[in-house]
Amino acid sequence: MFNFTESEDQKRMIDEATEIMEKYVYPNEKYRVPHRGLPKEILKPLQKVVKEKELWAAHLPKKFGGMGQGFVSLGLLSEVIGQSPIGPYVFGSMAPDAGNGEILLHAATPEQKERYLRPLADGDVRSCFGMTEPEVSGSDPTTLQGKAVKEGKEWVINAHKWYTTGAVGAAFCIAMVVTDPEAEKHKRTSLFIVETDNPGFEVVREVPVLGDHYPGGHCEVIFNNCRVSEESMLGMRGEGFKLAQLRLGPGRITHAMRWLGVARRAVNEMISYSLSKKDGDKTLADSQIIQNFIADSEAEIQASRLLTLQAAWRMDQGDEARREVSLIKLYGANVLNNVLDRAIQTLGMYGLKPSLSLEGLYREARAARIYDGADEVHRMVVARGMLKEFKEKERFNEPSTIKS
Ligand SMILES: Cc1cc2nc3c(=O)[nH]c(=O)nc-3n(C[C@H](O)[C@H](O)[C@H](O)COP(=O)(O)OP(=O)(O)OC[C@H]3O[C@@H](n4cnc5c(N)ncnc54)[C@H](O)[C@@H]3O)c2cc1C
Repeated sequence: MFNFTESEDQKRMIDEATEIMEKYVYPNEKYRVPHRGLPKEILKPLQKVVKEKELWAAHLPKKFGGMGQGFVSLGLLSEVIGQSPIGPYVFGSMAPDAGNGEILLHAATPEQKERYLRPLADGDVRSCFGMTEPEVSGSDPTTLQGKAVKEGKEWVINAHKWYTTGAVGAAFCIAMVVTDPEAEKHKRTSLFIVETDNPGFEVVREVPVLGDHYPGGHCEVIFNNCRVSEESMLGMRGEGFKLAQLRLGPGRITHAMRWLGVARRAVNEMISYSLSKKDGDKTLADSQIIQNFIADSEAEIQASRLLTLQAAWRMDQGDEARREVSLIKLYGANVLNNVLDRAIQTLGMYGLKPSLSLEGLYREARAARIYDGADEVHRMVVARGMLKEFKEKERFNEPSTIKS
């Protein structure tokens, strides 16, 4: 049986989150500082409101102060809070902390959980994830070169990373480096938790990137003879690739639903502007081209929403939903970009005015087609999986069209 109705709890969650967005989040957008986010004195009281309503850190279980209500609820909430670039910070579910929290939850020892996950989950510290390196293709983490070598009871890390989001101001970095160069390619790397006050950890610079919504920038980072204890390894030796993948499934549900929130905001701007813009006794909304923009955007938003919620539902049933997760990342990032582009076109020069609204959202949106797997990589994953499955099921005969 199919049932697309939200539960009573989910309805309450959506209503309360919407109220917080309207009352506290949108009015505070103007205080956001590029690359730094909201000043602490504004952010902290807003986070307190969210915690009191028990809408904090939807990706984490209750034990760590989160909502613990599964992926569909996480998706529904992300859609609401994603409408503002500061929403995920106010609700404690921003990247890369949310993904790092998920890895820590899954792989950390009880001591690591208390030391790193607890303050991260409470919103007391921020974190970053150092995987991508300038020298190799970020799309293929099996080619990483940064390494850690065991010396007595310590590991010595030497690595050059970049696009490490949020490194400025982060308390710790989860670094993915090679520990077993001779192992099978998916088992060469391990993860380490490196505190950013380690003398061997250096933020070289914030790499200038299109978009400025992420606090702490997208940084170039050097690990220079960076010594960490044995206990700093996260998960098992050789599990770096596996754990990094694990981080991406739930993260893509959050991203895809957050992008739908942004797309919804863009459609609302499109509609409101086109209704108000007069041309004689007609409005812009009377134009068929603008109506096409609105209808095409709605079709894409609804399709992406159903695709994402279906993936979330399958994950709630214990399925990894790998193909769906690739599809929502690929399709969702393109819907976001298409809808924002149409909205800007509708608003003409107003759409390009530097403000928090469309112009800023558009600059931020482009990267969505690259991070967490470029479009082309997801297409490849989906298509290869389908081809393999087709062959394995021995349905591969000459196509009937050739025979006839
Ligand atoms: C805003 C932003 C934030 C980021 N944050 C982080 C972070 O916090 N931590 C981190 O470690 N990294 C981060 N990254 C890096 C991100 O993970 C990489 O950019 C991404 O994995 C792609 O790697 P690449 O840029 O090296 O591109 P490449 O791997 O060099 O690929 C370039 C292009 O080649 C094509 N391509 C690549 N492989 C294939 C293939 N197999 N088949 C077909 N086409 C292919 C695609 O079109 C791709 O866009 C961030 C990136 C951005 C833009």
